[in-house]
Amino acid sequence: MTTDARLPLTRGTKLVVATHNPGKLREIRDLVEPFGLAAVSAGELGLPEPEETGTTFAANAILKAVAAATASGLPALSDDSGMAVDALDGAPGIYSARWAGPSKDFAIAMRRVHDAVSAKGAWTENPGPAAQFICALCLAFPDGTHHVFEGVIAGDLVWPPRGSRGFGYDPMFIPEGGTLSFGEMDPQAKHAISHRARAFALFKAQCLG
Ligand code: IMP
Repeated sequence: MTTDARLPLTRGTKLVVATHNPGKLREIRDLVEPFGLAAVSAGELGLPEPEETGTTFAANAILKAVAAATASGLPALSDDSGMAVDALDGAPGIYSARWAGPSKDFAIAMRRVHDAVSAKGAWTENPGPAAQFICALCLAFPDGTHHVFEGVIAGDLVWPPRGSRGFGYDPMFIPEGGTLSFGEMDPQAKHAISHRARAFALFKAQCLG
């Protein structure tokens, strides 16, 4: 993984951000542009969104990055992420977005997690049930070669959800060693320790020299 002659990405490289999600595009653009990379999104290039048929975060990140790199002829960076709950054998995991249903309602998704953990009798303490946020970033090249960078943050679930900052499952997750949920924390404080920040740090160290 460290032997690829094309790493690090040099200043002036045009990089496709393999997402149709404007929030992720913004975050990734903010990260790479200070390093002189020009970020364009898969959406802006009119690239099709591949079906996420993988069974792991890494596999889905690879699917998205390789599809964008081969279709565009440019290096591409993707992000696949979600929350894994120990008592649910890692669910919702790669289905984290889908648990929110077609209306993308995370109050519903958090309630589903709460009900499933409660049904297992695993909500014995509050905060209590162990969970992790996981982020896999994938950098792919037009010839299909790729590199995955994974970041994880462990924590405890809390009920009812706390705070209205962040997104997704943030209000029901308290990172390890903390007392505030991701939904209550200052966004900068979350971004300093999050799964995405940890994956980005690995990507930066290897690719943005
Ligand atoms: P993806 O777009 O298929 O990677 O889905 C990611 C989903 O995981 C999001 O829709 C959120 O539900 C969840 N998720 C990922 N990262 C975070 C986070 O930092 N906070 C809260 N939820 C997250």
